[in-house]
Amino acid sequence: MEPLRDPNPKAAHTAAMAAHILESFGRIPYLLWGHLAVRLAGGRDLSNPHLPDNECSFIIVDADLKRAVQVLMSGGFLQCTVRWQCRYRLGVPGARLTHDAHLHTSEREEHDTCLLLYNQSRIIPDLNGAMGPGPRSPHGPLVPYMFSSDPNTVPPRDEDRGSGYWRGLWPVRALKPNVLTVALLDCVLRDYATQGGQILGEWLALLVRMIEPAYPPTMRLPPRYRALWRACNSRVVDDEWQATFLAQLVCRNYEYIPRPDEEEENDDDVARRANFMVSRTQFVNDGRWL
Ligand SMILES: [Zn+2]
Repeated sequence: MEPLRDPNPKAAHTAAMAAHILESFGRIPYLLWGHLAVRLAGGRDLSNPHLPDNECSFIIVDADLKRAVQVLMSGGFLQCTVRWQCRYRLGVPGARLTHDAHLHTSEREEHDTCLLLYNQSRIIPDLNGAMGPGPRSPHGPLVPYMFSSDPNTVPPRDEDRGSGYWRGLWPVRALKPNVLTVALLDCVLRDYATQGGQILGEWLALLVRMIEPAYPPTMRLPPRYRALWRACNSRVVDDEWQATFLAQLVCRNYEYIPRPDEEEENDDDVARRANFMVSRTQFVNDGRWL
């Protein structure tokens, strides 16, 4: 029998409070992001000191950011007055994207959960309507978002994969697993193209959690990413080396990743391209599917 555990991640309560305040008092669109979004989408719960459980991240439309901070403060969140003990006072710990604003839930460190806000344009400019108004129980494969309280769209918890749907909390809007994976792949490739081959560690740390047998190459992705994702999923790599494997796949194969306007490949071509990509990394043993 499984040990008794809290049905929701610790930071889920803060995310639900923030979503409630933004929707009810400001009608401000938002999206859950970061570690919590990955867990909700079925990602693994790997320990990583740079992605703690006592924080949650939201994406806000750039033009709404200031108002979002005001609304959240009027709803009870605390502005950081650069407290000496604030772990974000020198920026976000680790190789991460710096937030555009942050708020606290408590004056006391041991009870505090931090809410990090990011301008949408810095992360995922094109969301295909994921932040727009929509029904609470969206149906259909083309709907890009889901709600944290919906057991029909949130992947079930499976050992260390996924958090399962959040029970008894205000529904929080988040990206579906395939859309989140595409968004993270977009971030990785954009970094690589614009920052001289440097990829932000945060993208890799989030993306490796989505590499799982539960999300095989058949996961619904745009043609551009099918071979790359199949290659990501094709090797059994120790947890500590997964980010390196992912970085190598992108860096050594960037020129072989199809452009968005290229024609769709059939399954055999995708498998061949994925195999080729893996052969250009140092992780060529212990094949999983190829
Ligand atoms: Zn602070």
